[in-house]
Amino acid sequence: MPNVVIIGSGPAGLTAAIYAARANLSPLLVEGWQSGGQLTTTTEVENYPGFAKGIMGPELMKEMRSQAERFGTEFLTGDVSSVNFRYQPFSLTIDEERTVEAKTIIIATGASAIQIGLPNEKRLTGHGVSTCATCDGFFFRGKELVVVGGGDSAMEEATFLTKFATKVSIVHRRDKLRASKIMQERAMKNEKISFLWNSVVDDILGTDVVTGVRLKNTATGKVSEVGCAGVFVAIGHRPNTALFHGHVDMDEKGYIRTHAGTATSVSGVFAAGDVHDSTYRQAVTAAGTGCMAAIDAERFLEAMGQH
Ligand code: NAP
Repeated sequence: MPNVVIIGSGPAGLTAAIYAARANLSPLLVEGWQSGGQLTTTTEVENYPGFAKGIMGPELMKEMRSQAERFGTEFLTGDVSSVNFRYQPFSLTIDEERTVEAKTIIIATGASAIQIGLPNEKRLTGHGVSTCATCDGFFFRGKELVVVGGGDSAMEEATFLTKFATKVSIVHRRDKLRASKIMQERAMKNEKISFLWNSVVDDILGTDVVTGVRLKNTATGKVSEVGCAGVFVAIGHRPNTALFHGHVDMDEKGYIRTHAGTATSVSGVFAAGDVHDSTYRQAVTAAGTGCMAAIDAERFLEAMGQH
């Protein structure tokens, strides 16, 4: 039986695997059919320390996976379909057919940015469409941008993007923002930011890269086009925790609650990365908590006399 089963193959899961493997815990990492996490849908990553010239997101994930493999991590490809954390050993069912038991579990299933749901949004992701201003804003120096959403994330992303862009238009589906007063005021005071009210993005335009958006007015139905080099979708994130409902404590938005490092409400089950972090959501912070989870799991096993 593995000492540690890690669920998830983004920076949190793979870093947990590197640390657990180097601690002789022989971890098993369950990677979903779409392995690698959110970084596999980005292009260049310039803010991950250690890569002075930047690195492509998929390449970074490939390197992390090889590093975890090098120290003996075993990989199992499949989607976890159910879990049993009621008693030890814990158990997981993979693709509804195979059961795996574990002494400890690290949940690192990440979060997904909510998308508008347009075919061109998917096609142009990494080519002008982004869900992370911190990651991609730098590429839009001197360009005009569109930010979609009316919450704190949209205000924060738009304000951040004015460091690079000449103009940022916030497209919001209502005529009232959901964002907190202070974030609204900050955005409204910014001379580079303008608001396009009662508007939804009907299509994202561009062949190889984004060249604009087509908007539809929710009040009048009128259609218009706005030229831009990038579209930042900031309409919220959803933690990938549906599987764990009723098994570990979560907050009202479905993020796993952790305490004392990465411990969850179930002793021996740990959580790392975006699955428990709605604030920072960076590859490097996910990797950091992945490391913490592996150390926490090792100490737990030691305290139980199981390693
Ligand atoms: P949010 O508060 O849920 O706001 C999402 C926004 O996107 C809303 O304005 C919503 O419109 C809009 N929206 C949702 N689905 C849409 C769709 N399909 N098409 C167009 N627009 C859509 O999400 P968030 O802004 O990511 O914030 C999440 C949480 O993190 C909040 O609690 C927020 O306060 C917090 N946060 C805090 C900070 C900070 O304090 N620095 C920064 C970022 C986030 P409606 O308003 O019409 O529903």
